[in-house]
Amino acid sequence: MKEAIVLYPYLGRGHLVSMVELGKLILTHHPSFSITILILKRTTITPASDSIAKYIASVSAVVPSITFHHLPIISYLPANIPPQIQSFELCRLSNPNVHHVLQTISGTSKLKAFVLDPFSFAAAEVTAALNIPTYYYSPSAATTLALTLHMPTLHQNSSLKDLGRDAIITIPGLPRISVADIPDPMKNHWSKSYENFLIIANNMKKSDGIIVNTFEFIETTAISALNDGLCVPEGPTPPVFCVGPLFSAQDEERDENGCLSWLNSQPSQSVVYLNFGSLGRFPLVQIKEMALGLEKSGQSFLWVVRDPPPSHSTESGELSLEELLPEGFLERTKEKGLVVKNWAPQVPILRHDSVGGFVSHCGWNSVLEAVSAGVPMVTWPLYAEQKLNRVLLVQEMKVALALNESKDGSVSGDELEKRVRELMESDRGKEVRERIRSITKNGMKALEEGGTSRVALNRLAQLWSQN
Ligand code: UDP
Repeated sequence: MKEAIVLYPYLGRGHLVSMVELGKLILTHHPSFSITILILKRTTITPASDSIAKYIASVSAVVPSITFHHLPIISYLPANIPPQIQSFELCRLSNPNVHHVLQTISGTSKLKAFVLDPFSFAAAEVTAALNIPTYYYSPSAATTLALTLHMPTLHQNSSLKDLGRDAIITIPGLPRISVADIPDPMKNHWSKSYENFLIIANNMKKSDGIIVNTFEFIETTAISALNDGLCVPEGPTPPVFCVGPLFSAQDEERDENGCLSWLNSQPSQSVVYLNFGSLGRFPLVQIKEMALGLEKSGQSFLWVVRDPPPSHSTESGELSLEELLPEGFLERTKEKGLVVKNWAPQVPILRHDSVGGFVSHCGWNSVLEAVSAGVPMVTWPLYAEQKLNRVLLVQEMKVALALNESKDGSVSGDELEKRVRELMESDRGKEVRERIRSITKNGMKALEEGGTSRVALNRLAQLWSQN
């Protein structure tokens, strides 16, 4: 009988891509396992639905040994579910379908492990009922995992929100952080999201193991604290397997909006690249400030711009670059910059020799992609755990310069100009550049034979084979 591993990513392209990369990694080094990936779908079609379908088709064509199993769509969600937890609920309502698939696979293979995204936690009820070894795959940093596992301990004290945003919190494995650096859903005792994060933490603690998309060289402190059991003082911590960095290499041939051919015409290390993940959007007034700051910096730039969030845009559908940017900006900067709408092939861009800096929202995939390409950053966190990642990048890894945002989260054009120039022209910029290059040179050995991530993967595969 074939030994089967089932992966269950959460909704959203980022979660899916990261989990698929895990599946590919397992198959590359341990081809005796079969990999099935369960696909949960939203009730509504979103702008990303099409790109997700194309992505799955492209992976199926290149790695036919990965089986994608599409779960039936849940067409009805109870009306009283708050919007911020509707996706968790969708996952919970899919449990009977997950139960059915796992039973079917168990009938023909030895089901060795069910690997869940932390946000797909509702399915842990199914694996508990079927007594299937349950693992989590965290697509975020080990630092975020350390915070998550420590949440039930923090919960016993007062609500973090009551301490005030500047209060300093000490958490094993984390650098010095303030309350403001902790994601909102993890600090407001009375919210539904907070309750769910507590369930996630408690479920992960009870699991058979936690796989993390990171590597020891960049998160030594957090990984040591996890391995030493410091984040879960009241009981054992499951074994932690750091197998990263994992990200999709992306197709260099598909240069749909001409970014790569434009970069080919730019001098080495001269271009600042600005992109804010798959979801980052700014109000119109902020986009215009950014444009003025970039223009004043005198640096060359490649900038991916999106429409403002829906409440800020006009009724007339998508805005053109001329409508989004200050009058005359595109004409004035045409020798210096390229602005593209919505999406750019980030991995090949970061690896291009002309790119010398990255203004990033600090999403963990973007961080790993920049680290593996040796590109220093200016940090502009927007949502989720990105402020925590900023602390890691600026204070601990020392590979990035922090932008100063005002209290309402906005950043002035002058501030952007200053930081971009600092990164590209100053001695501090040189220091972070040298630091990230040395991390790239030494840290990426983690993925080679005998490297820490390969050793962790082999340990995991051995555990699965033995059970
Ligand atoms: N990405 C890309 N082009 C874009 C925007 C994003 O290729 O124009 C990719 C990026 O390379 C990364 C992912 O989308 O792999 C974004 O993930 P991240 O964790 O950085 O941020 P999130 O979108 O989850 O906030």
